[in-house]
Amino acid sequence: MIFQKILVAVDGEPISAHAADIGAELARLAGAEMAFIHVIDAALVNAADTGIQPDVFAASAKKDARNLIDDFRKRLPQQVTALDFVQIGAPLTEIVNAAKDWPADLIVIGSHGRSGMKRALLGSVAEGVMRHAPCPVLVVRAKN
Ligand code: AMP
Repeated sequence: MIFQKILVAVDGEPISAHAADIGAELARLAGAEMAFIHVIDAALVNAADTGIQPDVFAASAKKDARNLIDDFRKRLPQQVTALDFVQIGAPLTEIVNAAKDWPADLIVIGSHGRSGMKRALLGSVAEGVMRHAPCPVLVVRAKN
């Protein structure tokens, strides 16, 4: 198997859980290392109108991120262990940078499959990662 270091990008959406399960199964089959990444959007941390100090918000968001990743870790098959990367920044940039730095040889990512106006307004992390990743990207669509 060519994949030995698999990076799985997770947010709080259910499609992430599906991506994590597929990443874990690939890691089990390949005997690969796995890592989860969750990016706390810097735009939220620095949002002026929350009334919360950025460092207080960041500390709380980091705790939430670790809890999120711990929940994903509980779903792993026994043979698979995973590192975790929690970053603050732009999700697309941080996922691509983590893939370069670790370095990953596969990124597994969900797709919300937004279309039309929603995509134009919110953009797509998955699309950006596909464009800028240093390695192959597996995009997992929602189960029908
Ligand atoms: P999108 O293309 O924006 O709908 O995002 C699709 C996928 O990108 C999600 O299922 C996650 O795998 C990943 N993703 C989006 N936001 C984040 C984030 N803040 N941290 C880590 N992964 C993310």
